Amino acid sequence: MNEVFDISNESKELKRNDQAYLLHPWGSLSENTNDEPMIIESANGVYVTDSDRNQYLDAIGGMWCMTLGYGNEDLALTMQEQAVRMPYYTPFGSMSNIPAVQLAKKLAALAPGDLNIVHYTNSGSTAVDSAIRFCHYYFNATGKESKKIILSRKDAYHGSTYLGASLSGKAWDRTCFQYMDTLVHHLSSPHSYRRPPHIAEENFCNYLLNEMEEAIQQLGADNIACFIAEPILASGGVIVPPNGYHQRAQELMKRHNILFVSDEVVTGFGRLGHFFSSNIHFGLDPDIIITAKGLTSGYAPLGAIILSEHLAREIKETHLKNPVFTNGYTYSGHPIACAVALKNIELMEKMALCEHVRSIGPYFIERLQELEKYPIVGDIRGHHLMACIEFRASNAYSPIPTLEDIAIAQAVDTHCQRLGLLVRPYESLCILSPPLIINEQQIDSMINILQNAIEETMKEMD
Ligand code: PMP
Repeated sequence: MNEVFDISNESKELKRNDQAYLLHPWGSLSENTNDEPMIIESANGVYVTDSDRNQYLDAIGGMWCMTLGYGNEDLALTMQEQAVRMPYYTPFGSMSNIPAVQLAKKLAALAPGDLNIVHYTNSGSTAVDSAIRFCHYYFNATGKESKKIILSRKDAYHGSTYLGASLSGKAWDRTCFQYMDTLVHHLSSPHSYRRPPHIAEENFCNYLLNEMEEAIQQLGADNIACFIAEPILASGGVIVPPNGYHQRAQELMKRHNILFVSDEVVTGFGRLGHFFSSNIHFGLDPDIIITAKGLTSGYAPLGAIILSEHLAREIKETHLKNPVFTNGYTYSGHPIACAVALKNIELMEKMALCEHVRSIGPYFIERLQELEKYPIVGDIRGHHLMACIEFRASNAYSPIPTLEDIAIAQAVDTHCQRLGLLVRPYESLCILSPPLIINEQQIDSMINILQNAIEETMKEMD
């Protein structure tokens, strides 16, 4: 009884302090918010426990990043050993450290084609920023200074630096900011479910490609540096572009000397069953790949851009005597983060984790599709362990989710939480990206809870 009393007091105090002192990412500054913080205190495998001792199956996977799951002692010990041996040294200029070198060699071996040059950052956002800076640097160095515009897409998410946020195309995130809209051109989202009603599904890819071609004509290929794209748009709603979209976009970009930057912050490191998905799933050979999140299984912050050798070679061959890429961070190639990334890759290979995802992923999607029988489920989409459920209040077409659609998703989320499942609510969606170590039984229990949560929500609507 005493212990219960203490826990609940301690938890209340933590929550009060959280509300008083902490502004969360996407945190509200409103006095009136009813959202009580959920403080996660401990975690193991695919489960997390909050400060009130409630346990949840974490179907969000932290934030798409907890690929090997929680409580992995090999990863934790690797970090400890590296911290004792050498926790930090500056990475600038010609200084380096052993895990950074070893990881770069490994990433070059895993990345497709001639993507063999690794440049570290602290996160996905700083990797996006660095990738775009590299594109501008490349075109400036090779005498094509006018190539500056970046093609991106509505519904995209590319991070939270000012440039990353400018590239992102999620409408709601764009209020009260002054984004770099002269530098960024947003194309339509390749979102089949919300495509314009006069476009048949089989014509949607042509529609998107025509728009892309027209945008290039209008802006002028000589003014466009790159196209940045998540192979599957993640936070914008697990949007899987139509078949053929990627290859045709790539052909178009190559024809116009526009660099293709593949943002694999989510789709890489096993989520789709491979270390990188650009080439294997989507037939792409990008000029730059961006990675982060699953690179360290979320155990330490780290991002990287992996650059094509041909870009580096062209820069080397220019008139610049000493081409220096003046970009980097105090924590670029942080030894603890690089050491844990190396161990993460070693364990993924030893456990055949990508193979596991390739076998369990289709089961997960199949089981999720059973939820299509409910009338409030509008769409289920995804690939392997990256999926979402889109809710709808009615069959009527709407280019964006309605308030009623959003209310349904929120109600389902609340019920899931009560029943011991954490899902990621976003507008009318419930996004799912469980740790890659998840097994069939855990998937079944996830589906059961989702089913119950949907049925409870429908009862409340009656
Ligand atoms: N790109 C993509 C596709 C992402 O999903 C994210 C994060 N969700 C980022 C970039 C930014 O990464 P970070 O939050 O590590 O800065």
